[in-house]
Amino acid sequence: MMTRPEAIDFYNSGDLLALGMAADEVRRKLHPDNVVSYIIDRNINYTNFCTEYCSFCAFYRPMGHAEGYVHPKEVIFQKIQETIDLGGTGILMQGGLHPELGIEWYEDLLRSIKQRFDIWCHCFSAPEIVNIAKVSGLSLYDTLARLRDAGLDSLPGGGAEILDDEVRRRISRLKSSVDDWVNVHRACAQVGLRSTATMMFGAGETIEHRMNHFDIVRNLQEETGGNFTAFIPWSFQRENTSLGRFVKEEATAVEYLKVLALSRVYLENILNIQSSWVTPGLKTCQLGLKFGGNDVGSIMIEENVVSAAGAHHRASEEELRRLIRGAGFIPKQRDSLYRTYFLN
Ligand code: SF4
Repeated sequence: MMTRPEAIDFYNSGDLLALGMAADEVRRKLHPDNVVSYIIDRNINYTNFCTEYCSFCAFYRPMGHAEGYVHPKEVIFQKIQETIDLGGTGILMQGGLHPELGIEWYEDLLRSIKQRFDIWCHCFSAPEIVNIAKVSGLSLYDTLARLRDAGLDSLPGGGAEILDDEVRRRISRLKSSVDDWVNVHRACAQVGLRSTATMMFGAGETIEHRMNHFDIVRNLQEETGGNFTAFIPWSFQRENTSLGRFVKEEATAVEYLKVLALSRVYLENILNIQSSWVTPGLKTCQLGLKFGGNDVGSIMIEENVVSAAGAHHRASEEELRRLIRGAGFIPKQRDSLYRTYFLN
């Protein structure tokens, strides 16, 4: 596998097309069938109350705020029914860190969902798991095992931002540490729940900080025998965030493509790399398929968190399929574990 100094040289080389070709070579080796996948699912943000005040977040509301909410179960059921009606196979359910919702609330929600719907529950990022464990006085392992027994199917990689405590102290002072994120994903593997890894870049960090992130993800993937199904880098959106006052410039398309290419060549032990369209836009997402990406994520029936921070792109299934075909690949719908067995 590529060494860290090689990765830094790779990233710093000015030859964008050479970066793309190197990443494409790894992608072709891991996905010789030329398929690019996408999923039909829905983001459900069950609450926007949060106690963490992350400076890059425009979504949360402090406890007691008039715009704060906790969705009643009926609202969540309605959203799931709409997802199924649109051909969706899963929900990505995440929320703020609510100081009063104990594990029983989450167990009840998951059980009620599973009683009514045949839907994959890809839910709760690492900081939420840490919060549920704390509120309920449980270990991470027991929290995850109980949620799994109630119907949790897999865990999203959110809350990773940059896995470097120096950066985290600056952008999300109160939120869980690097160790917390790692411990949650390690415990996930132990209880038999697959998970994804993400990275939010462009918040003023250096290439060394990003490499620290890559190293943690790569090593954990080795240690768990491949529990991460995918790696999903995305760039910070500054609109409506307090961090946006300090970070004046968002990552450019070129920077996004370079990070994507680096992800593909450095994380050879992770099968899938997502070229996202939600923050970089559809055209950059399409180019990303030549920079190592083999998945374009979700048609996203609903996304409150990044749209609150100024990402306003929308895509239908047909648009995504056209975009994939236009880049020379075969579009295929996948499930939450990146399996493309659908008849399309
Ligand atoms: S990013 Fe998550 S933890 Fe941070 S303030 Fe927003 S909702 Fe809360």
